[in-house]
Order: sequence, then structure tokens, then C-alpha cells
Amino acid sequence: MHHFEVKRGELHCEGVPLRRIAEAVGTPVYVYSHATLSHHYKVFDGAFAGIPHVICYSMKANSNGSVIRTFANLGGGVDIVSGGELARALAAGAPSSKIVYSGVGKKIWEIEDALRRGILMFNVESREELETIDAVAGRMRKRAPVSLRVNPDVDPKTHPYISTGLKKNKFGIHIDQAIRDYEWAARRRHIEVVGVDCHIGSQLTEISPFVDAAGRIRVLVDRLIRKGMAIRLIDVGGGLGITYNEEIPPHPRQYAEAIVRAFTGLSVTLVLEPGRVLVGNAGVLLTRLLYTKVVPSPKGKGKKHFFIADAAMNDLARPSLYGSYHAIVPVAGTGRGRVTADVVGPICESGDFLAKDRVLPPFASGDLLAVMSAGAYGFSMSSNYNSRPRAAEVMVSGSRFEVVRERESVRDLVRGERTASFLAGRKRKS
Ligand SMILES: *Cc1c(COP(=O)(O)O)cnc(C)c1O
Repeated sequence: MHHFEVKRGELHCEGVPLRRIAEAVGTPVYVYSHATLSHHYKVFDGAFAGIPHVICYSMKANSNGSVIRTFANLGGGVDIVSGGELARALAAGAPSSKIVYSGVGKKIWEIEDALRRGILMFNVESREELETIDAVAGRMRKRAPVSLRVNPDVDPKTHPYISTGLKKNKFGIHIDQAIRDYEWAARRRHIEVVGVDCHIGSQLTEISPFVDAAGRIRVLVDRLIRKGMAIRLIDVGGGLGITYNEEIPPHPRQYAEAIVRAFTGLSVTLVLEPGRVLVGNAGVLLTRLLYTKVVPSPKGKGKKHFFIADAAMNDLARPSLYGSYHAIVPVAGTGRGRVTADVVGPICESGDFLAKDRVLPPFASGDLLAVMSAGAYGFSMSSNYNSRPRAAEVMVSGSRFEVVRERESVRDLVRGERTASFLAGRKRKS
């Protein structure tokens, strides 16, 4: 469900025609619907209403402060993966008591910051990381609340780059070794074992991998409790998929039922780390066509169209990186008929595309296009490749819209850059 709809022949976000945003702010621009964000959060939260839980929004999906604040205002916490994310989460009003810290490579300053802020827990991914956290907490005369991220060796049946719960992935501690590491951790003075964590992958469209993982986690939790460990938090990660094209992911209610069932009879608080499912369909990337080009089809018959947009792989990496599908929708009326086209950006790479061999209306240069379902892993994965300033971000609420991140300027591109002293001032020899 989302609030991007055609009304009176024009695509709107809630009460605002997208054309108006493009005219006021320029393109490319990300547009987020506040009503959609809130709705998604409430549906997800409501699905777990029956049991104690904390929703820690996985902010790497979309780190904009206004997005984080939308969830924080509804009572949400945040799942972070770096010190930078900790700072942004706190600045956006997330309470440190609802922040969990995931990730395989936490640095010492990042661990110190998180301890100083008093976060809910660290999700620890290796024995060496445990040792480091114990030592850092010791120096600070603190006890670090810790879960081990367990790798349950479950195939999430998603894209290989976003599966994380298989033995061969870099993530987590293999479930068979976890008991050993838990016993070690429980004896450390500066570590407090508080929970168990897992996250098996992203964009899952089936329920069974979640059920398998939760079942394996339950077995582990029971063993840890029998050994006298006070497990009070069970973090099942994120990963619930969304509809980009024709996927039919489980409804959050179905997902919640399966998770809750796996942990019945325990007095624990569930921690959920949804990312994509909260923000993915709440955002679009607006882009304007710069040029069109028609070439004879490489397949020999007919013509191939290229629509050259002002958004590129640096703005939205998912199509190039994962071969992902994003629907492309006209913002206003177009000519009649259909053509087969690649929607590409200005970047000097053949891998720079937003859509390939897509059947689309016969767009003309100057047309505005909406790249749908771009709210997750869109702006947050964007870069300055080809020295392209990053796009602006806008949030809509009802009939209002506001810029929630300015478009970068060309000056921003060289901020922090210096000319090496041995190059400065030299005259070119002729
Ligand atoms: C990326 C990530 C998430 C969120 O995944 P989604 O598929 O966006 O829900 C949650 N937890 C961890 C540890 C992650 O790395």
C-alpha cells in the first residue's frame, strides 16, 4: 500500500502533484510520502501488538533524518551499523534505549560512542569482537549489553548479494559454535549477555526461511536459558520483502504470527529490524528525460529505444548492482502506444541503467518519470560517481511538501579535498 496515485491525469504523492515538486526542486529528486511511512510502521507494529516488542528501524535502508524521526515519533527505535548512523539516529530523536548496533566491523571509537550513549545492545558477530567490546567497556568501567548474531545457515532464497544467513556468508557466528562463545561471554566482567540475534537476508518473499531460522534460534535460546543465561531480548533482524514487480511477500501479520509462534512460552522482548518493508514503497525517484535515441534493434527486428534520464546509477544503484526491477511510471500524459526501451543515465558505464528492455509509453525528452519503490536503498546507497552532486530529498504530508535534504552543490563535491603541496604553484613546462 502506498500514497502514489494518478489523479486528474497526473501522478500525485498524497495531495501533491509530482510535477510541482520537480518544478520547484529540480530533478533528480527523491520524494517520500509521510502517510505511507506512518502507515507501514503502524501495520508492522500492530502485527506484534500481542507481545512485548521493540521496532528498531534499520536505518541503512534510508538514513534521512525526517524518515527516522517519523518512526521515532511513533515510538520506534533504530538498528544501526556504524558510528555515523548512531549520530544521525540520535540527532533525529531516536532514544538510545531503543538503539541496537549490528555489523561485522565495529571500530573502537564506534564501540566507545555506543557505550557512552547507553544503547540497548550490541549484536556481536565474532569472538574477537566480543574481546574488543569487553576490553573497551572495561576501560570505560561499563558493562556492555550483548547479543551474539547467530548464523542459522538458512537459505533466504533472495539475491546472493543480500543473503546473509548462510554458512558461507561473512555474517554472524555459526549456530553450532554459538554456545561456546556465549559461555565465554557470560564469564566476562564487562559483558552482560542479554539476548540472541539473527538476520538472514533482505527482500525475502517467502515465510519459510524466517520460520526455519526462528525455529533454530528457539532451540539455542532454550539451551542458553538451561545454562542459566538471562536471555531477555530476541532479535530476529529484518528482511521482509516488498512488491517491486510481481512478488507477493508475506503480510506483516503473517510474518508476525510465524515469529511469535516460534517463541511462545518465553518471557522475552522481541526486537524487529525492518528496513525495506517500512520505506521501500514510500519513496519514488523523480527524473526528467534529457534525450531519446532510437537505434536498429540488436535482435535484427524493429527498433531499440534509449531514454536518457537525468538520474543514474549513482542516484539509484539497485538496478546496476542487483539487476533489480523498479517500475517506471509517467508523471503526466504521454503519447499513445508502446515501445521497448532501456532507461539509462548519463554515467559513462554500460551498467548505468534504471530499466532494461522495458515496455514503456513513447516518452519524449523533457518528460518526467517516476522510478517507483525507490524509498529503500535508494538515496542511502547513492554516490558522487562521475562527480554528480547527490539528489535532493523531499517529504510530502497531505498537500504540503518540504525539502528534507538539499541537492548537493558542485562545491560540496570538492569539500575536504586539497591540492598536494608539491603540485601547487608549479608552472607547466612546455
Ligand atoms: C540490512 C539489515 C536489516 C534490514 O534489512 P531489510 O531487508 O531492509 O529489512 C536488518 N538487520 C540487519 C543486521 C541488517 O544488516
